[in-house]
Amino acid sequence: MADRGASEIQFEIEEMRALIEDGGALSQVLSGFCHRQEQEDLLVRMAEALAGEEFLLAEAGTGVGKSLAYLIPAVFWARSTRNRVVVATRTKALQDQLIKEDLPLLQKALPFGFFYALAKGRENYLCRRKLTDLVSRGFNLQPEEQEFLRQVVVWASRTRTGDRQELHMDNELLQHWPLVACDWRSCLREQCSFQDSCFRQRMIKRAESADIVVTNHALLLTSARIGNGVLPEFKYLIIDEAHNLERQAFDHFSLTFNRAEVRDILNSLSQKQRGVQIGFLVMLQNRHPSMRARLEQAHKLVEDCRQEVDNFFKHITRGVPRTTRDNSFSLHWKEGSGPLPEEMVEVFVGLDTVMASLLGVLQEFQRDLQDSPEALEIAGLIERLTECVQGIQIIMNEALGDPEQVVWIDFWYGRAAAVSASPLRIGNLLDNSLYEHLASLIMVSATLTIAEDFAYFIERNGLEAYRGEKLATITRQSPFDYDSNCRMYVVNDLANPGHRDYERQCGDFLQEFLEKVPGRTLVLFTSRRMLLDTAAGLRPHLEEQGIRLLVQHQDGEFNTLIADLVTAERAVLMGVDTFWEGVDLKGENLTCLVMVRLPFRPPSDPLTSAWQDYYRNNGENGFYRYSLPDAVLRFKQGMGRLIRSELDWGAAVILDRRLAAPPRGKSYGQMFHRSLPERRVVEISRNEAGREVSDWLNSFA
Ligand code: SF4
Repeated sequence: MADRGASEIQFEIEEMRALIEDGGALSQVLSGFCHRQEQEDLLVRMAEALAGEEFLLAEAGTGVGKSLAYLIPAVFWARSTRNRVVVATRTKALQDQLIKEDLPLLQKALPFGFFYALAKGRENYLCRRKLTDLVSRGFNLQPEEQEFLRQVVVWASRTRTGDRQELHMDNELLQHWPLVACDWRSCLREQCSFQDSCFRQRMIKRAESADIVVTNHALLLTSARIGNGVLPEFKYLIIDEAHNLERQAFDHFSLTFNRAEVRDILNSLSQKQRGVQIGFLVMLQNRHPSMRARLEQAHKLVEDCRQEVDNFFKHITRGVPRTTRDNSFSLHWKEGSGPLPEEMVEVFVGLDTVMASLLGVLQEFQRDLQDSPEALEIAGLIERLTECVQGIQIIMNEALGDPEQVVWIDFWYGRAAAVSASPLRIGNLLDNSLYEHLASLIMVSATLTIAEDFAYFIERNGLEAYRGEKLATITRQSPFDYDSNCRMYVVNDLANPGHRDYERQCGDFLQEFLEKVPGRTLVLFTSRRMLLDTAAGLRPHLEEQGIRLLVQHQDGEFNTLIADLVTAERAVLMGVDTFWEGVDLKGENLTCLVMVRLPFRPPSDPLTSAWQDYYRNNGENGFYRYSLPDAVLRFKQGMGRLIRSELDWGAAVILDRRLAAPPRGKSYGQMFHRSLPERRVVEISRNEAGREVSDWLNSFA
């Protein structure tokens, strides 16, 4: 098709509509493409939102074709008005789909050309300066790091993007990527002699000249937080997978005092390995014998710092019940609950003092080492340590006790790993740092509404102020035939999830059920501990039956587990977290979905706990205002794993009687039912489930 000049491109909705008609340009470049009214409705509404400078919330069920519905008007808008449009996704899978499939497809189908670029965080790109420094100095590297470096040097000589995604390397070796990755602390910017060939700079230039910039939520939030050229300027934004933007922003805007980060800094300064003292301070000692006395003092401060950090985490976790040490725990020193325990104040002062002393000594070295080859390295260490010191000072002196801040401890295998703080009202922050600067915003997802109502999403994401003229909504259901192809079974005679018999009954039930059900099954858990306990009980039995059991955290990473599930004839995949959202398996690859428990977040979840407190203090019910709608949205995401295409069929089995009709179930179960496209819900007993579900699945054979 002949390319049109920019001045000839009009923002004509009819022209966009014609592209997705049967026999239109898209059907000529994509075999099997057919017109869908739901997609057309979305496309038209999104085009109107861009042209009318509206904020639009769009819920589109699976299979509507939402990405083309927003990309087509976005490209027309960018080319006809010379306004760049940024598209942000949460997952890499969707990012890949946009970059590798949808946008190239549109380049073929549209009657004019356009440019698009992928913008990733700087840590994804190779830093040529760091690589050159490492190769030329080469000291202090372990054999594995040397092997990593050897492979990177070969790759660096031929890569055009410097994007780590292109580096095919063993995971063990890839963990050394930070050695050569761009990072803001050590980047020399204008003073860098590699500036002209810098991969990150090239990416920024590409993005600056692009009509459509695809990025991820994390980089979008970084750009909102610090601005400063992270992304090229934009006023038109599309956020796909918008359903958990609030959660991501909560993490992103948080301050963290991370035990591993402090340990890493201290180890870089001085540590003992196989009986030998190594690190930056040792290197200085060898090169600058005149600094010996001060270096010895620094060694001692490093040791003191290690002890104070351990002491701090030991004290701050006192009183945290062992059972909640699975993930996160909110601290409850809130305004009005009195001063910090005296002992804790002393512990923090001890830590603060020793870190400040170490920082002071390092700054003295930095002054002495100006213009020496070590100056850059010590500057990086000082910057990292300063960030830790400032972080913990703000958390302990300001955030703790402030009702507008949430403070929590993260645990890793039962051990305190970090203390963090983040603002409670993330929506306000999103408004001030992001929405306020936009002409038009489109937020898209398959799960934005509760029983077709956007109110919860609007409140959570700080969009209240735009209600009325500026904020519009549209919902389009999935075009798939759920009534014929899908059944949801609620097992109604298990103990309540809070009951002590529940987990044992679930394990017993799954053992019998999985043996009877044909094909491939995904079992979703809400707790890692329960996942691992259940898997341990089931594994010998399932293996005896020739059923392959694949367990998150045990049998591989996400992609490996999915690949293994698809290649096995009969298999069960069990997971938590990402598996509720990231699984996209069509046809026979997934025909049965089991949800062990409704996905209510535990009371230890920092954001949930903080909002529960907030509503309680304001005389409202935190469960109905926060926990329930949050669980409904997560449940919708989980259910969305089952039917992924027009030809899919399957059964969803819910092991949580709260979804059954009262009196066995809870009245709020209706909220879950009314939010789903699946209308055929069958209550069933434990004894019947295996036979009923396998009969239903076999009817499609
Ligand atoms: S400009 Fe910064 S990121 Fe790029 S090569 Fe130089 S130091 Fe590395």
